[in-house]
Amino acid sequence: MELKKMAMICCACKADSFIRREPVYEGFRKTGERIFCVSCGHEYASEGDVPYTTTAKPNLFTDADRSRRVALFQDDEKGRNCRHCRHFVVNPFIQRCGLRHIEVQATDGCDDFQARSAEGVDEDPLARTFKSP
Ligand SMILES: [Zn+2]
Repeated sequence: MELKKMAMICCACKADSFIRREPVYEGFRKTGERIFCVSCGHEYASEGDVPYTTTAKPNLFTDADRSRRVALFQDDEKGRNCRHCRHFVVNPFIQRCGLRHIEVQATDGCDDFQARSAEGVDEDPLARTFKSP
């Protein structure tokens, strides 16, 4: 059970809250789960009713707080990886190629590689995804 998935804004008490799961037993067999708000105890009928907070949290840190990216690779090594390509699209859930419309990894490479514009080169797309806690 990941903590992120459990965070929600309760529809009953409107608080930034979490869910609590209670197993339901029929005899000794677990037949399901009941889902409650830890703050007010409101019961949710099903997983789909829980207003999970899946949207990004507000940024607590500004860019100035972030430590500079450590250069792990020599320039020629980082060369043609997807993460340095202008078609590389990143959000917290998926990294994809905007050109080929497939999921890619930052370390992938392909023949359609196009370096990002000079001003974007220093901005690490991966680092951007970690801005929100
Ligand atoms: Zn509640």
